[in-house]
Amino acid sequence: MTKRPLVLLDVDGVLNPARRPTMRHRRHDVTLDGRTYRVLLNARHGPKLLALAAGAEADLVWATTWEEHANAEIAPRLGLPPLPVIHVTGDLGTRTGEHFKTRHVAEYVAGRPFVWFDDSLRPPDWQYLMDHPGVGEFLLVEVDPQTGLTDGHLARAREWLTGRALGLDDAGAASPEPAP
Ligand SMILES: [Mg+2]
Repeated sequence: MTKRPLVLLDVDGVLNPARRPTMRHRRHDVTLDGRTYRVLLNARHGPKLLALAAGAEADLVWATTWEEHANAEIAPRLGLPPLPVIHVTGDLGTRTGEHFKTRHVAEYVAGRPFVWFDDSLRPPDWQYLMDHPGVGEFLLVEVDPQTGLTDGHLARAREWLTGRALGLDDAGAASPEPAP
């Protein structure tokens, strides 16, 4: 079984923040099933995510309610290739406080280490993943939906993935928060 790490990507609140946080975010109108959605995307995020994945020998995967639409509408605007999609909208039964995507993610990862960028992660999600027998090491990177993905989030992910590659136990063992 492959142990290549995964980097899970949300769209709304992560790549598409609620407000325009930088001048690099450009507005796009995306029409799906006759409805038009206004999205704010920073084209630099594509190359940065590709560099993160390449440096860590990790695979980028969509974990968003956009599902396949992310490949049609988001990926090309960021310079990303089509990515695997975790189907997150099917009903997996009653939840116990975790986000509806979390059970789908737990099934998908199948023991592979993963970093998850999302704006909806809370303690019940962490607990669910910790308790799930099919889930290995992971890092949840909670993103503020007002500002979306930042270089700081990417750096946290890179540190964690690099620490794993060096055989260190976890991000805590690898390096405490560096002093400013
Ligand atoms: Mg979101």
